[in-house]
Amino acid sequence: MDHHTEFLNRSFGLTGRCALVTGSSQGIGYALALGLAQAGARVVLNGRDRTKLAAAEASLRKQCPAAEVSLLAFDVTDHGAVRSAIDAFEANDGPIDILVNNAGMQFRAPLAEFPADRFDQLLQTNVGSVFNVGQAVARHMITRGQGKIVNICSVQTALARPGIAPYTATKGAVGNLTKGMATDWAQHGLQCNAIAPGYFDTPLNAALVADPEFSAWLAKRTPAARWGKVEELVGACVFLSSEASSFVNGHVLYVDGAISVSL
Ligand code: NDP
Repeated sequence: MDHHTEFLNRSFGLTGRCALVTGSSQGIGYALALGLAQAGARVVLNGRDRTKLAAAEASLRKQCPAAEVSLLAFDVTDHGAVRSAIDAFEANDGPIDILVNNAGMQFRAPLAEFPADRFDQLLQTNVGSVFNVGQAVARHMITRGQGKIVNICSVQTALARPGIAPYTATKGAVGNLTKGMATDWAQHGLQCNAIAPGYFDTPLNAALVADPEFSAWLAKRTPAARWGKVEELVGACVFLSSEASSFVNGHVLYVDGAISVSL
């Protein structure tokens, strides 16, 4: 092996690692799972809908024929179900070395009329999930003295937009939970970081993508002048999952075409 390939494999290669990506039946989660598989990891896809998961598995195998793929269906908001699923996977299928906490949801309504049950659902899905799955997986990582956790927050940790105040609150909480995870678990050999995506064309944003006024606003407001492509998040995720980031801990990495740093 030449020096160049040896360097890339040692720094960024994920061969022999197992990565669980929550909410990976579509959108950003699917793109990250595919990217991690292409970097050599065995990947575990998660979601609630088993039909969507099976379709995602078939698609991933087609796009990356060498990939080793497993499915692990559970609802990230159910603390007991998450704990059982993770413990059973660890016991029967081997260690989870990388966890990407990606599952999340969006609900738009003016704050004065925002339904209380939707607020709770957002908290449980976007923040409770990071606690539930993070805790269940980290317990095993801590006993092994190593592990990588990547939480998906949002550019909304830095910026608010009308109609999504509770979503903004949950993503801010994910950013801060990431710092807490890093602070508690660095002593056990874990690195916990976050990626803050800008605006990406996924099913979550279907209504915005279909709205030409929003796309025009976005092109004007974002220095990169366009929507992000989900594959543009892969490099950040591979970096934060690999040896190359061994001293990067508690960091929030913005991947947003500079929208968060410009007025
Ligand atoms: P999508 O709505 O396209 O996909 C969401 C995924 O999460 C699906 O696979 C869904 O599967 C899964 N999911 C949702 N709820 C649960 C649950 N309770 N338990 C298990 N799985 C669940 O979203 P995106 O790909 O757009 O977003 C992914 C993440 O990125 C989210 O956290 C989002 O907030 C964040 N993000 C997205 C941005 C964007 O521009 N798209 C920008 C910034 C952040 P199923 O329905 O089967 O459960």
